[in-house]
Amino acid sequence: MPSIFTRIILREIPSHEVYRDAFVVAFLDIAPLARGHVLVVPIEECEFLHQLSDESAAALGQALPRIARAVLAATGTTAYNVLQNNGESAHQAVPHVHFHIIPKYLAPAIGGDGLAIQWNSQPLAVGDAAPLAAAIRERMGV
Ligand code: 5GP
Repeated sequence: MPSIFTRIILREIPSHEVYRDAFVVAFLDIAPLARGHVLVVPIEECEFLHQLSDESAAALGQALPRIARAVLAATGTTAYNVLQNNGESAHQAVPHVHFHIIPKYLAPAIGGDGLAIQWNSQPLAVGDAAPLAAAIRERMGV
């Protein structure tokens, strides 16, 4: 079954589209966290970022900064977050890869309250860091 974003990409469901190329479509989020909140979506229908083809990934990498520049220029903002959720427990509601571009306003009344992030960081575990990095490097094939 096509995802809701595929149906938007196919224009079966209306959206306020802001960008389209052979691999990527971007449109305004229907429930923005701030004015100018845009979703950037690969046409390729994958649930998770790590499933994307290199072709789609490269196109997204090129489109994201270009769309971010346009959002900043159109909204007059200079700060923003790029958010990309993978998996229900990581707050992914729509199972089709997408990047949020969320402008940050100095005066919340102008753009909504925006994105709130709780960053529960902890010191890097000294004994774990080296083997963990090695395990990731091994799987990167480097
Ligand atoms: P997620 O939590 O999956 O990262 O974010 C999904 C986003 O898609 C939400 O911000 C939500 O508002 C947006 N969204 C869901 N359905 C629609 C829709 O039909 N149209 C548009 N434009 N945005 C949608």
